[in-house]
Amino acid sequence: MDRTPHVVIIGGGFGGLTAAKALRKAPLRLTLLDRRNHHLFQPLLYQVATAALNPSDIAVPIRHILQRQMNATVLMGEATSIDVPNRKVILSDGELSYDYLVIATGATHSYFGHDDWAPYAAGLKTIEDAIEIRRRVLIAFERAERESDPERQQEWLTFVIVGGGPTGAELAGALVEVAHHALARDFRNIDPTRARVLLLEGGPRILPPFPPELSEKAREQLQRLGVEVRGGSQVTGIDAEGVSVGPERIKTRTVLWAAGVAASPLAKSLGVPLDRAGRVAVTPELTLPGHPEIFVIGDLSTLMQDGKPLPGVAPTAMQEGRHTAENLRRAVRGEPLLPFRYHDKGNLAVIGRGAGVAAFPKSNWSGRIAWWAWLLVHIFYLIGFRNRVLVLLEWAWAYLTWQRGARLITGGPKSTSDPA
Ligand SMILES: Cc1cc2nc3c(=O)[nH]c(=O)nc-3n(C[C@H](O)[C@H](O)[C@H](O)COP(=O)(O)OP(=O)(O)OC[C@H]3O[C@@H](n4cnc5c(N)ncnc54)[C@H](O)[C@@H]3O)c2cc1C
Repeated sequence: MDRTPHVVIIGGGFGGLTAAKALRKAPLRLTLLDRRNHHLFQPLLYQVATAALNPSDIAVPIRHILQRQMNATVLMGEATSIDVPNRKVILSDGELSYDYLVIATGATHSYFGHDDWAPYAAGLKTIEDAIEIRRRVLIAFERAERESDPERQQEWLTFVIVGGGPTGAELAGALVEVAHHALARDFRNIDPTRARVLLLEGGPRILPPFPPELSEKAREQLQRLGVEVRGGSQVTGIDAEGVSVGPERIKTRTVLWAAGVAASPLAKSLGVPLDRAGRVAVTPELTLPGHPEIFVIGDLSTLMQDGKPLPGVAPTAMQEGRHTAENLRRAVRGEPLLPFRYHDKGNLAVIGRGAGVAAFPKSNWSGRIAWWAWLLVHIFYLIGFRNRVLVLLEWAWAYLTWQRGARLITGGPKSTSDPA
């Protein structure tokens, strides 16, 4: 019988995949389980949602990524709970035993207790979400083109994005570009440049993880592009015909949700207290309290460092993945685990063509230079040579022509007369 310790990694996202790759030479048997067959580069999802990129440009089969890693087996399946005392992962259709477990199942969107808003306010987390947003946005222009009543036409040409974090800001900037440039000459009855894009943020300023001066620069850049940016706008209602912000009613048929996140529900089965977002408060070694054989990393976990929780971003998940690999190697050698320390290399957000903000530990950038930094970093971290080349080509083409190559309406309701 094979006595090589068996490590099960749940989740082939940034944290889980990084841990698996960092263990390629370790004397361990790895099983990477994911409910999807692909690793998804979420930071570029908004570009699929706004028709700049194709889904396959930003997603790679996990099986292919680990093709040459002989100590790793990839399984497609959904973990439904963890049987901690018996060291088993319970799947929707089976179970897996482990000696060590790495849980990296990430987060999903949360409607802050208003799940009834979900059908009207599309969130962005998966390829399917991005295709659905793309469908709703393009359908809105199609419906406006067929509408004879000017008021209703304007409702179709009004887009509201809830949440002024990086995803909301990126979506808003890209949507304006779609309306003002990519679609500008394609319609006969409407003028797409009349489209309104509103970015609503509940807090006082957009891009809260960035320093205030960069939030201000981002707001200026978005407004210059044509986005109506509103801070202090707590959304109180969303339905098929609009958004309520206190007493104000904004009539719109397209609402995009970029506001809240909640950790993957798998955490609930671990039997430990969770924070308000459903995340596991891990030990400094990134393990489940009382269980040094279970590591919880990435968006599913929370850890305080220098008095602040670590940010829920890809670099945190990747650094935690690498650190967990090192701790697993130590665990099998019988050595004590090491505490994790996050190295903040900076924070980037793109606002639109030639516009962005970048917060580095020692300096802040905005405008074209931040946009270039964003471009280079994203190409560098994108997995797969083919994807890097394709994305670069698509960006160059879009930059030169102002066009967006992936403007297909697919998925969702079949007929354009269905509600979007
Ligand atoms: C739209 C968007 C834009 C973003 N932009 C940026 C950005 O610009 N910069 C940045 O640093 N970060 C960004 N982030 C955040 C970043 O993507 C996350 O912090 C990062 O993905 C977290 O990594 P993770 O490994 O914890 O989870 P994920 O990368 O989300 O991976 C989780 C994996 O677990 C799998 N999974 C989930 N549940 C189960 C289950 N029950 N069974 C089996 N498999 C399961 C999923 O299929 C997925 O593959 C963005 C996120 C989103 C949604």
